[in-house]
Amino acid sequence: MFRISVPTEKDKYDLAELARMFVPASQLDMISRESMDVSELMGSAGEYFKIPSAGLKNDHKRLLYEYLSEATGKTLDWGILTGVRPSKLYRYICDQRGKEDADRELREGYYVSEEKLGLVSRIYDVQSTVRRDSDPNAIGVYVGIPFCPTRCVYCAFTSNKISRPAAEKYMGALLKEIAFTADLMKEKNWRAESIYIGGGTPTSLDDDHFEALLSAVREKLYSAGTKEFTVEAGRPDTITENKLALIKQYGGDRISINPQSMKQETLDAIGRSHTPDQILEAFRMAKEKGFERINADLITGLPGEGPLDFVNSLETIIAQDPANITVHTLAVKRASRLIEEDPDYAYRQGETVREMLRAASEMLPAAGYEPYYMYRQKHMAGNFENVGWCRPGTANIYNIRIMEEDQTILALGAGGISKIYYPSEDRLERIPNVSNYEIYIERIDEMLERKRKGTA
Ligand code: SF4
Repeated sequence: MFRISVPTEKDKYDLAELARMFVPASQLDMISRESMDVSELMGSAGEYFKIPSAGLKNDHKRLLYEYLSEATGKTLDWGILTGVRPSKLYRYICDQRGKEDADRELREGYYVSEEKLGLVSRIYDVQSTVRRDSDPNAIGVYVGIPFCPTRCVYCAFTSNKISRPAAEKYMGALLKEIAFTADLMKEKNWRAESIYIGGGTPTSLDDDHFEALLSAVREKLYSAGTKEFTVEAGRPDTITENKLALIKQYGGDRISINPQSMKQETLDAIGRSHTPDQILEAFRMAKEKGFERINADLITGLPGEGPLDFVNSLETIIAQDPANITVHTLAVKRASRLIEEDPDYAYRQGETVREMLRAASEMLPAAGYEPYYMYRQKHMAGNFENVGWCRPGTANIYNIRIMEEDQTILALGAGGISKIYYPSEDRLERIPNVSNYEIYIERIDEMLERKRKGTA
């Protein structure tokens, strides 16, 4: 048992996240001196490693890191960095003081490994071209469809099993929000640089709803300055010739087909009701329809998979030649079924994921891909990262903007969180929509009013 005493309840929360990367939650006892008299513990509960009250949060993290690293013999690739946007931190330091300082600070102040430093530095270079080409009136637009055919075992998103009556009501509210947003953008002189229809699984809508959605987005939100229009066609079992034809007809130029794994047993275990052959068929159809920008998502650390399974999946996907491949690390979030069944899952998967990611970072550059954006999530297996890889010149603008937080993004639909960017202060204001789709439908006027007030 590892016993750690920290000054306050808040420190306990912040530092436990770091400590859990070294030891499973079941072997960790953290107490805050704010809520407990530690003198009572001495002698009875063993010795506590004490984080002093003086010092800043990062000083505390370094102390804890050094203690646990020595006690367990482990090091962490991201060091004491627990935040979700290491590339944003790196860019921030680069923009202020240059790359050399950024490298030094991440290496010496945050204990980031050379491997991850190389990754974040390469991403910075690839992003620089996109970020340089920035128009102050350009924004991103996200439209969320909170329905899927079935629910994946690891899902913690706003997703509900699709039914026609539910989708019908949802579309009513969403079309209202699309029209409202179009007026707002006109008023503000904003134009959509990128549009992203995500979810959930937008292609799980019936054809008439799907067409109504695409047609409204095209007519009201798309403009001459729109550089990319992505539609997530995530689940291969929802992709049809007709859906692909509709995406093309309304100007969608990027789709995402998300295999996650090419192993049937894994697909069954994670609750996806499709086969690997359906994935290949979706790629074939999309290519036949002329889609040049296809993204494919894979996940490392899925239940029951070893490094070889992941390598096999990645090889098969590279052979389909998508423009973008996103390699996710499984995040076992609180809301998912998996964490209820196995609370230490993310901790135990660390080494397996490390091997999988290492394989990806060798295979993808060898196949001509470069890393263009990254982010991390809480409860990720081994505390690693998600990385988007692209063929040169095909980086997805929306993904870069949302992760780097350097542009206003208007988000429509249940669970959408708009982020208004104030460049002079490098600050974001969030305007959330409710995530429950039934409440969203009921309170749509209130959501619109929030948007109006938040952008005033
Ligand atoms: S496809 Fe995505 S949003 Fe839908 S259930 Fe699976 S993880 Fe959740």
